[in-house]
Amino acid sequence: MQTLVIDMDIPRIVLTQLLSRISPAAFFARSSPLRLLTLPDPPLPRPDWVRVRNRLCGICGSDLHQIFLDASLDVAPVALPSHRRIYLGHEMVGEVIEAGPAVTQFKPGDRVVRWGRADDCAARGLPDRCPACARGHRVLCERASEPREHHPIGGGFGDTFITPASTLVPVPPAVRDEQAIFTEPAAVAIHAAWRCLPQAGQQMLVLGVGTIGFLLIQVLRAVQPASVISAVAEFPWQADLARACGADHVFLAQADGYAETAARTGARLYHGRAGNRMLLGGFDIIFDVVGIPATLTNALRWTRARGTVVLVGVNLHRMNVDLTPVWYQEVNLLGAVGHDIVSWQGEEISTFDLALRWLQSGDLRTDPLLTHRFPLSAYRQAFATALDKRQARSIKVAFEGLAASTAEA
Ligand SMILES: [Zn+2]
Ligand SMILES: [Zn+2]
Repeated sequence: MQTLVIDMDIPRIVLTQLLSRISPAAFFARSSPLRLLTLPDPPLPRPDWVRVRNRLCGICGSDLHQIFLDASLDVAPVALPSHRRIYLGHEMVGEVIEAGPAVTQFKPGDRVVRWGRADDCAARGLPDRCPACARGHRVLCERASEPREHHPIGGGFGDTFITPASTLVPVPPAVRDEQAIFTEPAAVAIHAAWRCLPQAGQQMLVLGVGTIGFLLIQVLRAVQPASVISAVAEFPWQADLARACGADHVFLAQADGYAETAARTGARLYHGRAGNRMLLGGFDIIFDVVGIPATLTNALRWTRARGTVVLVGVNLHRMNVDLTPVWYQEVNLLGAVGHDIVSWQGEEISTFDLALRWLQSGDLRTDPLLTHRFPLSAYRQAFATALDKRQARSIKVAFEGLAASTAEA
């Protein structure tokens, strides 16, 4: 089994963080915790596990945070125990090549995407469910950080991996591999939209357009055609694509967002001292898909009283944010992580299944989003390209040909 990992080796992590101040090449040096390993194929540890051969796997923003060690040690998630080794790559599509004797839902040859981590109650095979899992919110499982036998399981950035069958979702034949790798980010975007579903006539702002932002615009368009969607893009080419995804108005991050918000929504703009500005009125809902102090501070000020900001962007640092709009204008601040179950047209459905349905129907169009492909051996170039929006104009970068050598064997 070939697999790309990050070892949670504190001396290596600290050394790499220091060396990276001199050169970003440190993230890929021998001293880095990131390594491409060849390990013996692990046996299936339990009868309900399967082995999957990867076909294509997208690089997620959260992978980049891990690879470039972009986290502080004093934030909440870091307080939880973590595994000694992280197997990278979750936005994969592959095919089952071995199924344990207790697996009924998959057989070799079935195409699958990975639902997520293998640490919730169902994936652990527990007879009961914690309160979060009982409500269907498996990503929020209360047992997620309890000790677990640590198998070498592999991930999407490799040729094969093993996992409990309950962590996989079948891919309909009509959904191509190139679409299927967007199932997970689309499930994330759908969950984010459901945190605050727009009503007819409402004004929304999607702040930041990468893969999740482009998918979120399409999701919002699908669930509420009679709303007005604005978006903030960093580059003009992103603005064009945001419009093609269904945004009514797009402005660039370098533009005056206060003036843009006032013009779009009729909000009143006030100037305080030293460039301190505030709006009364504003967007009904803002999705902050970037999630850094500047965007979150702006989002809270650009939202009308009792409007809602949904924090979608992942940031593993303490943030210096002006929270006063939360009490002064009673702005709701909500978060969104991972995927969920939602009710849609009278049906309780996993956002994974809804994502696959909308990929198949064409409500979610992903072809313009897959901009680059690399073999796994070129992983350094792939990660650098994924970071480089300006020159490379990357949106989703994916690894291909993952199991080429083993497929011939
Ligand atoms: Zn992802
Ligand atoms: Zn649970």
